[in-house]
Amino acid sequence: MRRPLIAGNWKMHLTIPAARALAAAVGKAAAGVTDRDVLIAPPFTALAAVREAAGSGVLLAGQNVCWEEQGAFTGEIAPTMLKELGCAMAIVGHSERRQLFGETNGLINQRVAGALKFGLIPILCIGETLREREAGTTFTVLEAQLKEGLAGVTLASADQLVVAYEPVWAIGTGKTATAAQAQEVHAFVRQTLGSLFEKNIAGQMRILYGGSVNPANVDELMRQADVDGALVGGAALKAESFERIIHFQ
Ligand code: PEP
Repeated sequence: MRRPLIAGNWKMHLTIPAARALAAAVGKAAAGVTDRDVLIAPPFTALAAVREAAGSGVLLAGQNVCWEEQGAFTGEIAPTMLKELGCAMAIVGHSERRQLFGETNGLINQRVAGALKFGLIPILCIGETLREREAGTTFTVLEAQLKEGLAGVTLASADQLVVAYEPVWAIGTGKTATAAQAQEVHAFVRQTLGSLFEKNIAGQMRILYGGSVNPANVDELMRQADVDGALVGGAALKAESFERIIHFQ
């Protein structure tokens, strides 16, 4: 069925020596793990060192990606540049990009399309704010993020795209969605994906949960039928906690 994916988003943390040390520890923790994928998304500056230190058992992702291969796009990174450094995936539309850097669904759609065009798997992040949840608009917001973020996208297979549901109110706050809340949204996301792509593609696509995932809550979240993995921020910066999350039961 769907192979679990445990992904660590290091955000703007760790200089090269610290990144190398943590990557080596993650590589060790992932060694011998055959029934799930382990991925880290370090800062761009540490990608080469992390590739070397983590070893081939760990997948790599960029934390963002441009839609063009080259050109006048100051501050951006091309899909081909990420691939050159060993990345298989790229996070797109993280709530910090949306909230702090004004990225819209339209811009995120360009990033998704660009990643796919060059054979990089986008991890499309979606999520509602606390205000949106309290106003009862969670599903409307998520549906728009999915439909606009994936406009014009066609997929040949489910493994070309990953979706991460990350309620904004749960990111870096220590507040996690309950397992039931996560499952309710994941089922809705899968149903919406089913309206955009063929049913068997939506059924096989991985949907990650993100938002204060830690060693204490990962097992219950991962037991939910439509939760296929985790996108982990803070707890991915410590070797022991990320190792425990990798080894969820
Ligand atoms: C994230 O940044 O994607 C995230 C989920 O962060 P945290 O685990 O710290 O909430």
